[in-house]
Amino acid sequence: MVPARTYVAGLFDSPGVKQVTQALVPAVDWLGIRIALPGGPLVCHPGDVPSHRMTLDMKRGAVLSESHHLPSPDIGLSVRTLRLVSLSERAIGLQLIELEVEHGEVDVTFEASADGDGKEFGLATDRLDQAIGLWHTRFSGKRLALATLLSCQIDGRIVQPSVIGPLKSSWTWKTRAGQVARFERLVAVVRTDSLDADPGPPARDQLGLAQRAGWRGVVTAHEAAWTDRWLCSDVTIAGDVDAQHALRFAIYHLNGAANPADQRVSIGARALTGDDYHGHVFWDTEIFLLPFYSLTWPEAARTLLMYRFHTLGGARAKAAAMGWRGALYAWESAATGSEMTPEQVIGPDRKVVVVLCGRQEQHISADVAYAVWQYWQATGDDDFLLQAGAEILLETGRFWASRARLEADGHCHIRSVIGPDEYHEDIDDNAYTNVMARWNIRRALDVAALLRERWSARWKVLANRLALDDAELAQWRSVAEAIKSGLDPKTGMFEQFSGYFGLEDIDLKNYAGRSVPMDVVLGRERTQNSQVVKQADVVALLGLLPEEFDGDSAAKNFSYYSQRCGHGSSLSPAMHGLVAARLGDTATALRFFRQAAAIDLSAKRVGSAGGIHIATQGGIWMLSVLGIAGLALRSDGLSIDPHHPTGWESVAFSVQWRGRRVKISIDQTERHLHATLEAGEPMVLFVGGKPNHLASSATSSPIAW
Ligand code: BGC
Ligand code: BGC
Repeated sequence: MVPARTYVAGLFDSPGVKQVTQALVPAVDWLGIRIALPGGPLVCHPGDVPSHRMTLDMKRGAVLSESHHLPSPDIGLSVRTLRLVSLSERAIGLQLIELEVEHGEVDVTFEASADGDGKEFGLATDRLDQAIGLWHTRFSGKRLALATLLSCQIDGRIVQPSVIGPLKSSWTWKTRAGQVARFERLVAVVRTDSLDADPGPPARDQLGLAQRAGWRGVVTAHEAAWTDRWLCSDVTIAGDVDAQHALRFAIYHLNGAANPADQRVSIGARALTGDDYHGHVFWDTEIFLLPFYSLTWPEAARTLLMYRFHTLGGARAKAAAMGWRGALYAWESAATGSEMTPEQVIGPDRKVVVVLCGRQEQHISADVAYAVWQYWQATGDDDFLLQAGAEILLETGRFWASRARLEADGHCHIRSVIGPDEYHEDIDDNAYTNVMARWNIRRALDVAALLRERWSARWKVLANRLALDDAELAQWRSVAEAIKSGLDPKTGMFEQFSGYFGLEDIDLKNYAGRSVPMDVVLGRERTQNSQVVKQADVVALLGLLPEEFDGDSAAKNFSYYSQRCGHGSSLSPAMHGLVAARLGDTATALRFFRQAAAIDLSAKRVGSAGGIHIATQGGIWMLSVLGIAGLALRSDGLSIDPHHPTGWESVAFSVQWRGRRVKISIDQTERHLHATLEAGEPMVLFVGGKPNHLASSATSSPIAW
């Protein structure tokens, strides 16, 4: 079992001075408690507790527990706990414990500690006393402070602790029936990114503020922040209780994962809930999470994109080291933007597998550009575009224009890549990569034209700094025109990569009962020589750029590739569900919804031990809002095209669009919807292609579709 620990966003370190690969370093567990009776601890193993109930209160963002104990026939105790990490004051954690003596007299000791001294996890200790711990990472120059305040009241009277060590206090007393002992722990956790910046004073300040507010004040501010988040992001479904539950679980985790105040961190593949993938940031953030944030929490979306802006240096260095221009983002990114993908991992068969993703999974650069553009479309945040977004678009566009090479057949090719389907390595002209790259170059050209026209002074500065001239822009244009897309105009089919259609075609129906991924069933080599795909690849392209698929090409590609997809990644089912919903195949969409929801919620799965699959949670929101409700961004408004599965009687949600907040309630039974412009200037909502003007805060009359 993984020992209890605290994950601190951005606290990355490498294992040695020569190794560059960084991992999130866990800090001490701030929640450690021990209740001891003369015969030993109250609980040795969770299974020993006669009755125990733990609740994640998603509405208030708190974990509550209640347990009853009968350590001997003449003693009965109950223990209630609450813990939270504040959403309003992000440094603050609060733990409350109430111990009630139901019957019996006994000497009891309550000990609260922040367990582990930091060393075992690789942090070096600078100072440890009762009220504060200070550490630094060994190689990455980061510092950490954990300031803590513990108090105890027995029957309403404050009792002084006996301090027994650093970050550790204890209380011993004789119980009596009906007695209530209350413990309160406040902590403030602060990370700094340089050895010169002492995190101690800000941690103490934050703790002081929380102490002045008192635990009730901390809870009130935290709950108010959650109320606000739920107001902006809740999605309600009438008619499907399980789906409602899964969706709220997703939204809860999405709201907890982002911190608009810290531009130096992004969201790792397991957010801060476990250490699979070491806290590294993948395309998961831009493709699966940004849609939620851009449309419900623009401040968080902007901060996440600013992380990519601050890590442009790493992306430029990676491109240059590989002989290209512009910015090639790290497939796995940590604090600096340098490539963090391990060069090898241990495969499911315990054999060493060489990982090529760090060199070849390059679509990440287009994915970042995609999120920048979508954010700007959703928010109209010109300031972001001018300060950061344009530079990301231009540098990623530049990368692709240097990466795609014109060959004798008159096409520009992008060779030796890995697409989202990681079962096939070192392939040429992956349709997802190439079409996204073309789209990226075109948006870079758009942004260049826009800046030149509307913000010419800014354009001059930027073009000058990036040494970007008209000749280079013309070269980009010609590359975009000539990129091989993999589309056969006669059939409307995209070939996933060059040579894919010639590979062994395996009927996945024959493997329906399997309990392991397809690459394990078939072995690596046969998988690589087959058409079995790990996850949405052409289907992901269809999800992101539906306009690239004309007429029945969308349905044809979806049908072909979904039959060949083994869903070997947790990212895959939700993306398939999104596309199925848009195609009107609502039964398939619902099936994928349930498959995605089961990844972290099903009691049969053990996959969550390494942490919540946060991209899956984002995908569930996308499937519901962008797929089933059919929300899409337009340059002149928002549009809705609902495709409800059977049983989903109504769906209601709020989104933000260019400074407005609009609530949309879709009634499947009546086949109409209501829209309410809750904040902001008048806007247009297109339903079934027809414009509807939303002007006041009153709810619109029913709009049919
Ligand atoms: C993932 C890759 C990743 C690699 C190393 C694989 O399981 O599919 O995306 O780069 O692990 O972390
Ligand atoms: C997937 C990648 C994903 C990574 C982190 C891998 O298994 O194939 O697409 O980025 O996990 O979630």
